[in-house]
Amino acid sequence: MSEKIIVARRDLICDLCGRRILKGSKCRMIRDDFMPGLVYFEHLNCPSAPAVTVETNCPKNPVIHNNKPAMALA
Ligand SMILES: [Zn+2]
Repeated sequence: MSEKIIVARRDLICDLCGRRILKGSKCRMIRDDFMPGLVYFEHLNCPSAPAVTVETNCPKNPVIHNNKPAMALA
């Protein structure tokens, strides 16, 4: 299996939720290496996908909340 993020050149049907992927929007294309004719399309943020496969807009670096300057004791 190889997957690639593409821009839809026509309206596609998401293989996870069955809804339409609009032309011009980004989606994930999954191809079976052994059966080249077998291609699946998915929304990048598919509403019915398991949470682990969904890309979110989370920041890549952790947000550090305790970054206050150290207090001077003297
Ligand atoms: Zn979907």
